[in-house]
Amino acid sequence: MPKELVYVVGHKSPDTDSVCAAIVYAQYLKKAKRINAVAAVAGDINPETAFVLNLYKTKLPVRLDSTKGKLLILVDHNEKSQSPDGIGEATIIEVLDHHKIAFECAEPIAFHAEPVGATATLVAKIALADKLFKLDKLSAGLLLSAILSDTVVFKSPTASKADAAMAKILAKKAGVKNVKKFGIEIKKQKASLKGLSAEQIIRSDFKEFDANGKKFGVGQIEVVDLKEAKERKREILQKLEAIRAQNNYEFAALMETDIIKEGTELLVAGSLVCLERAFGAKFADSAAYFKGMMSRKKDLIPPLTKAVENRM
Ligand code: MN
Ligand code: MN
Repeated sequence: MPKELVYVVGHKSPDTDSVCAAIVYAQYLKKAKRINAVAAVAGDINPETAFVLNLYKTKLPVRLDSTKGKLLILVDHNEKSQSPDGIGEATIIEVLDHHKIAFECAEPIAFHAEPVGATATLVAKIALADKLFKLDKLSAGLLLSAILSDTVVFKSPTASKADAAMAKILAKKAGVKNVKKFGIEIKKQKASLKGLSAEQIIRSDFKEFDANGKKFGVGQIEVVDLKEAKERKREILQKLEAIRAQNNYEFAALMETDIIKEGTELLVAGSLVCLERAFGAKFADSAAYFKGMMSRKKDLIPPLTKAVENRM
């Protein structure tokens, strides 16, 4: 194992899972594996993550805008288009993730992916299984928060039994009595669109995807009511079109997910062909509502990627 500094980093537009998984995994590697690991973030953190870090008295990880020449462990993503810039000139030594596999590496490396609801669940599993490491109260709180955030308090179809079981163990360690209530409190931290520009709304959780060389972008917001988002539809669509044009995407979309009603209003700029084909739905005025759609990773991306790949 290298003595050099190793950065543990999640995806761009970092979310609570990317940030908290990186923090605790770096802690674990340092203490149990004696790796000179440091947690990093690939961009500004969102208000929800700020709330969690503040609650558990944890410092913001170092900011990693360029990864050129650095040693990296990727958490919570494996698609290089979602990594911090300069990833092509960095050395990736490990991946720990729970997304679809879209990774290639010329060297053999440790690659650990499981279909669970949060990277934090995997970090907790590794940390709790190792007798050389003691997961403290604050770190348990960080991982619990990340699980609740990523699984939308277990409502997302990505949530697995492993997440719920791990959350129970972590809640006990962190001293959280009512896990669901705590989860809703976390989710509410970034549910308001007030004071955010259309660009900030779209970019708050935005990912680029590549299907056989055809690129598209999908952002997601999670709200407790669609009213605010509906009022700003025109402005959001305009910005989506600007982002699409700038990046040469086939289309750019925003999932506006109502976590209480459990459904998603999907706004799209650009070609609608693939979306209409993927979901057998007609879009009206660049939008369509999908009942039960909660997860970008599970409900949206698989059928959409297939449709984009198959498009002539
Ligand atoms: Mn994430
Ligand atoms: Mn995640």
